Amino acid sequence: METNSTVKHYAIIGAGLGGLSAALDLRKVGHAVTVFEGADYVGGLAAGFKQPGWDWSVERFYHHWFLSDSSIFGLLAELGLSDQVKILQPKTVAYYQGRFYPLDSPLAALKFPGYSFPFRMARFGFVTVYLRYRAGWQALEKVTAHEWVRKYYGERVYSSLFEPLLVGKFGPHYKDVNMAWMWARLKARTTRLATFTGGFQAFSDLFAERLRGQGVQIRLSTPINQVEPLPGGRLRLHLPSGPEEFDGCLSTTSPGLMARLAPSLPETYLKGLLDLRHMGAVVLTLALREQLSTQGYYWYNLPKSEGYPFLALVEHTNFLSPQYFGGDHIVYCGDYLDPDHEYFSLSKEDLVTRFLPALARINPRFTPDWVRDSWLWRTPYAQPIPLVNHSRNIPAIQTPIPGLYFASMSQVYPWDRGTNFAVKIGREAARLILSGV
Ligand SMILES: Cc1cc2nc3c(=O)[nH]c(=O)nc-3n(C[C@H](O)[C@H](O)[C@H](O)COP(=O)(O)OP(=O)(O)OC[C@H]3O[C@@H](n4cnc5c(N)ncnc54)[C@H](O)[C@@H]3O)c2cc1C
Repeated sequence: METNSTVKHYAIIGAGLGGLSAALDLRKVGHAVTVFEGADYVGGLAAGFKQPGWDWSVERFYHHWFLSDSSIFGLLAELGLSDQVKILQPKTVAYYQGRFYPLDSPLAALKFPGYSFPFRMARFGFVTVYLRYRAGWQALEKVTAHEWVRKYYGERVYSSLFEPLLVGKFGPHYKDVNMAWMWARLKARTTRLATFTGGFQAFSDLFAERLRGQGVQIRLSTPINQVEPLPGGRLRLHLPSGPEEFDGCLSTTSPGLMARLAPSLPETYLKGLLDLRHMGAVVLTLALREQLSTQGYYWYNLPKSEGYPFLALVEHTNFLSPQYFGGDHIVYCGDYLDPDHEYFSLSKEDLVTRFLPALARINPRFTPDWVRDSWLWRTPYAQPIPLVNHSRNIPAIQTPIPGLYFASMSQVYPWDRGTNFAVKIGREAARLILSGV
């Protein structure tokens, strides 16, 4: 490391992909960087877990990359890890009148019976192509997806395809989400998906190892309790072991945690953080003795209106071979919910009892003794809710406290949150820190 007086010591709160990406760029130009992580692992929301007999880790919350995820693929190339990316084309299905239909290609989407008449098919194709090639999103954020899609795709396409998606993802807030979010989602999604050899945790571990090799300190199990601005512009971070001082700090926590960490932020910035809305996620992961979807479907969007107790049924081992997981068939039962929903307080056993009957609707042969093991993962901050004119409400990465920066999923708008955008905003934050903006 260089030792001249321009070398600064930066703290990063959070060893998710945003924090690790910022650390890479700050260290690259010679600054000292310490990453503080409350958990005892790196990877944040994209972290995985492993069981005896599994060669690969399983993400706590289902994860894959889209082929349009240029920031993540750029990072992988820079780290020399591109050859460890696996690209596959799993099958996604949507429900319509008692059956599931593939939605994994433009042709399959056009054949979806929710809009099978030639006129509706043509309208669906035309509007989808228009959205995919439309360049700007600004005008679309002034209107809700609920209004826009009904108007341009029509009621039937809305109710059969878009409404279940919006209800599933945003629950009672589904009518409030703006159309720019839907535009970004349609634009960025690809039917071919990618993952990392060994799982996302293997990638985060390799990334952290590389950073450590370059001199970045990553201190696990070290939650930061507060960030305090000091006269003269330095920042004091309060750790369980006592205070430490830094020249600057990037926080990658949720907006609510950021407000608690830095109560001396001006009231307008604090209010901006606290006014942001988001959904939490509850995911029950099951290791089954047998394959659930014998058609090989990876992703089911389930309609809650038909009595399904959760939104997404994801058979991970219809994406990746069960041989990576000791022959276990890995199934996620996931849902996005308001953070005060009862699923956040029910026990794993209660949720297993509520969720398992839905599996027999997917495969009538399913019986509870197929479940070899199960794990429950919950997070109160999983999916920001972009309301109308959301761009006006996004907190700036540079906070009003000199030297204190903030980068989270709520600021990657209009893009739907994801590891790709965590990398992008982490690197953008590093650029702002380096330019002193
Ligand atoms: C259900 C679900 C499914 C998803 N699916 C996908 C997908 O398929 N593909 C994809 O690319 N992305 C997906 N994502 C999104 C992706 O996980 C996130 O966008 C990304 O991981 C965010 O990275 P981050 O670094 O911004 O934040 P995080 O990963 O949240 O990292 C923040 C870190 O800060 C730490 N922290 C918090 N407070 C403190 C403190 N006081 N002191 C120290 N450390 C602290 C946390 O422990 C955490 O490790 C999904 C997310 C969820 C919830």
